[in-house]
Amino acid sequence: MNTPGNSLSSGKETDKDRLTSLLSTDVLTLDLVSALAGDRPLTKAEALLLDNKKNSLGNRFFSDLLYAITHQHFEAAIAETLWQEIVRHKYEMSAALKRNIRVVVAALDYLSNITGDILSTTLIAEDQIADIIDVSLRDGLTGLFNHTFFYRRIDFELNRSARYGTPVSLMMIDIDDFKEFNDRYGHQEGDAVLRSVGALIKAESRDSDICCRYGGEEFCVILPSTDSGEAVLLAERLRKAIEKNQPDNRKLTVSIGIAAASGLPLHTPESLVKKADDALYEAKAGGKNRVIA
Ligand code: GH3
Ligand code: MG
Ligand code: MG
Repeated sequence: MNTPGNSLSSGKETDKDRLTSLLSTDVLTLDLVSALAGDRPLTKAEALLLDNKKNSLGNRFFSDLLYAITHQHFEAAIAETLWQEIVRHKYEMSAALKRNIRVVVAALDYLSNITGDILSTTLIAEDQIADIIDVSLRDGLTGLFNHTFFYRRIDFELNRSARYGTPVSLMMIDIDDFKEFNDRYGHQEGDAVLRSVGALIKAESRDSDICCRYGGEEFCVILPSTDSGEAVLLAERLRKAIEKNQPDNRKLTVSIGIAAASGLPLHTPESLVKKADDALYEAKAGGKNRVIA
């Protein structure tokens, strides 16, 4: 598993990083925990990181180690002893089998065959888990991030904005008169339009922007480190691209509402969405096919 989060500060975070960071919410990755147990040597930086974690987490550190291996929660009070027993079991198994037994294998044997803490197990390769997460957080029609991912991420970005005082903008995009479009051309054509609008949103955005399908014919884009003025420029560019990109002289336009936050007070995701929705409502009331911030 990759170490998530490292690329956050460089601004080069990819969609894959974003998904991976949801897999492990903290830096205790399986690879690191495995090294701590002696599966491979620890680098100096890793040893330091683990020391810091241990100091800051207290005996919850051991619960986190076990969580990284088993994805099960063990009480802090018993986790340290359990961890030591698993590591001892790893060395006993290695000696008996005359080869290096990784801590994951030792933990599985110990917790299922000796203590009975794990009753049913299955083997899933890490890249398969990543695939499952990917599918669960993306919208099937457009391939953009879905509503669930959107709310997790906007929360993260608002907290970052409050902590560092950097701006974050939110763009809500709604297709104009889409019901009419469906009635006229059918739902399959409607679906094709949703796909192409999704692709245009992605193409017009920067790599650091987080493009989502909010639901139905509504999309939203989270724009980290972007104030409302810059968001309007992007929204205008997008609005024009969608209007211009329609085949066979079909009319298809979008209305866009923008809201921004910067530093404190901390906005809730709901309050920022409400602000962007109000702006979108104004764009609709003002005649559609326009951007309001
Ligand atoms: P407005 O300009 O005020 O936004 O009008 P509208 O017709 O776009 O808005 P309304 O909310 O009345 O209708 C939204 C339509 O979007 C209705 C629904 O048929 C269509 N829609 C929502 N999700 C999908 C989808 O997944 N596929 C297709 N083809 N249509 C969808
Ligand atoms: Mg709508
Ligand atoms: Mg609409």
